Amino acid sequence: MGKASRDKRDIYYRKAKEEGWRARSAFKLIQIDEEFNIFEGVKRVVDLCAAPGSWSQVLSRKLYLPAKLSPDSRDNDLPLIVAIDLQPMAPIEGVIQVQGDITNARTAEVVIRHFDGSKADLVVCDGAPDVTGLHDMDEFVQSQLILAGLTIVTHVLKEGGKFIAKIFRGKDTSLLYCQLKLFFPVVTFAKPKSSRNSSIEAFAVCENYSPPEGFDPKHLHRLLEKVGSPSGADDLDCSSGWLEGASKVYIPFLACGDLSGYDSDRSYPLPKDADGTYQSLDPVQPPIAPPYKRALEMKKASSHGVKELEKLSLDS
Ligand code: SAM
Repeated sequence: MGKASRDKRDIYYRKAKEEGWRARSAFKLIQIDEEFNIFEGVKRVVDLCAAPGSWSQVLSRKLYLPAKLSPDSRDNDLPLIVAIDLQPMAPIEGVIQVQGDITNARTAEVVIRHFDGSKADLVVCDGAPDVTGLHDMDEFVQSQLILAGLTIVTHVLKEGGKFIAKIFRGKDTSLLYCQLKLFFPVVTFAKPKSSRNSSIEAFAVCENYSPPEGFDPKHLHRLLEKVGSPSGADDLDCSSGWLEGASKVYIPFLACGDLSGYDSDRSYPLPKDADGTYQSLDPVQPPIAPPYKRALEMKKASSHGVKELEKLSLDS
């Protein structure tokens, strides 16, 4: 797809470039905030799976920059934003970057160290594995990322704090809902307008972190296992924690974002210059070391190798 064609078919991709966001995902976090007011009173945030960094940009623009520019700002009182990803990310003002795997305990330790004994008010996780197109598999790997996020939450989130996590809707959604409900009395699955209807993606908005009494983060997985096996999840009664019951789980599901605003599944005409042409903008910040870059290098190296061999056989 050409750049102008994508600009036409994907209004949020075009708007992201116009407004200086590194990815169209920025609008998803903004629309979740419009509905749930997730940034209210927030001073410390963890952004899990943050590259290329559009959510971190939103956090910087909504929390860090206004505090820094305020006349009563003090250096030691500025919001703390810690962003983690497997991939390196170009710098963003006010964002501390950690390169690491969120499923690895050592990454959680590095994050905790940055908080220096204090706790986060908000943890966001937009993690996504490389999608295979096999929905069950993609949903499973995605749920593992959320559980890794939840592990970090149990170490760094303050009581009353919020957790926002990308989910893939599927047959195990109710299991995940029940697991999240163990820790958050209010869990809503939200679909921002900027997330395409054709995508199984949605976001779990978990409010008022309240771990079970006597909960020890070391035993998180044992506790989650008690919620039930994936096949039995549809019959769980979440209100009583992990106990099995006859009542079905009804998951609060909310569309969010200005409903009269842009529709991510529609094409929009491109704005023309005075001379009647359309100028497509370049992406704001392409990923600095994406996995496909290495694949391209390997492909180039192997085709170079084949040419060298062909040359040798012609010469001999
Ligand atoms: N929120 C980001 C933004 O607005 O720019 C986009 C995130 S992108 C959809 C998903 C990210 O998850 C990728 O950058 C990927 O490297 C990261 N990721 C996937 N698995 C991960 C893991 N185990 N640990 C850390 N990051 C991971």
